[in-house]
Amino acid sequence: MSLFRDSIDALSAYQPGEQPKAGERVIKLNTNENPYPPSPKAVRVLRELDPDALRRYPRPYADAAREAAARLYGVPTDRVLVGNGSDDLLTMVMRSTAEPGRKVAFATPTYVLYRTLARIQAAEVVEVAFDDDYRLPVEALAAAGAAVTLVATPNSPSGTRASNDDLRRLATAVPGLLVIDEAYTDFADDNALPLAQELPNVLVLRTLSKGYSLAGLRVGFGVARPDVIAGLAKVKDSYNVDAVASAVATAAIEDQDWKNANAERVKASRAKLTAGLEELAFRVWPSEANFLLVRPSDGKAGVLYEALKARGILVRYFNQPRLDDKVRITVGTDEQNAALLAVIRETAQERS
Ligand code: PMP
Repeated sequence: MSLFRDSIDALSAYQPGEQPKAGERVIKLNTNENPYPPSPKAVRVLRELDPDALRRYPRPYADAAREAAARLYGVPTDRVLVGNGSDDLLTMVMRSTAEPGRKVAFATPTYVLYRTLARIQAAEVVEVAFDDDYRLPVEALAAAGAAVTLVATPNSPSGTRASNDDLRRLATAVPGLLVIDEAYTDFADDNALPLAQELPNVLVLRTLSKGYSLAGLRVGFGVARPDVIAGLAKVKDSYNVDAVASAVATAAIEDQDWKNANAERVKASRAKLTAGLEELAFRVWPSEANFLLVRPSDGKAGVLYEALKARGILVRYFNQPRLDDKVRITVGTDEQNAALLAVIRETAQERS
C-alpha cells in the first residue's frame, strides 16, 4: 500500500526556476525577481527588530501588515487576509473550495501551481487553452461552471493583462469563486482591485514578491468581501505569517515611493528590452509584467536557453507543448538586459 493518497502519488513535484548557488556569478532572469533592492525603511525594520518579537507567537492575522494593506487598498481590515506569499493564499483557496466532484478552471498556459494545488485536492481540473494572443477565454471558462476559476493578470508566462470588463463578465457568469491573481500588478497599467469590492465572489491576490523586491520575505494579500475572507481564514495555518515578515512588510507597504520608483525603472527597461529583441527578429508578446514571453525567429528556444546558460545568463524555458519555442525573460537592469542582447547577438551563428 502506498504511504500517500492516490492524488499525491499521481503528482509530479513543482519545478521551481533554477536558483544559483551562493557565490555563483550569473545574470538571473528566470524567476521574475525585481533587480532592485527592497525599501531601505523595510531593511531598517529588519535590522532593528526586537528579539522579543521572536520569543512570542506572532499575531495570527499579521495585524500590522493587514492594516497597512487595508489602508493602501482603501478597504476595511476585514476585507484583507495576509498570506505567507500569495502561494499560501492560493493554498487556502484550494483547501476551502476544491475537492473531488468540484471543478477548478483556468486558462493555460498560466501559473502551474494552480494545477498542482487542484490535483492535491483531487478536484476536477478544467483547462481552457488561451489563443495565441492570450485573450481571456471568458465564455469557455464560464461554461466550465467551476467552484473556483483562476485568472492570473498580468498572466505568467505571457505578461498579458485581462480587461476589467472581461473579468466582471466572468465573475458574474461563474457559480463559484473567481480568483484574480495580480502578482505582477505593480508593473501594469490597470488593476482589478475595484472588482473585489464590487462583486461578492471575487478574490484579488497581491504579493510583495515582485514590485516590492521581497520574494524572500514571503508575504501576499487577499482582498475580498468579509465572508470570503472568513471562509479562507478557517483553513489557514494558525500562524501563517511570521513576526519578522509582518513587521518588514508593514514598512515596505508604507514606502510606496520606493516601490513605485523601481516599478517605473523596470517598465522603462521593459520597453527598451522589447525594442532590442524585436530588432533581433524575436516575437515579443505585449507585457504588463516584469518579464517578456519571446519567440526567436527560428523557434529554437531550447538551444537559445542553453547558449545563454553557458554564458551565465539564466532565462526560463518551459519544455512543454505551445511554450517550447519560446523563453520567458525577466526584465533586469539596463546593464543586465544589454548583456543579454549582446550574448544573443554573439551566439546567433553557433545557434543556427
Ligand atoms: N501568482 C503568480 C502568477 C506568480 O507568478 C507567482 C510567483 N511564482 C505567484 C503567484 C506566487 O508569488 P508569491 O507566493 O511569491 O507571492
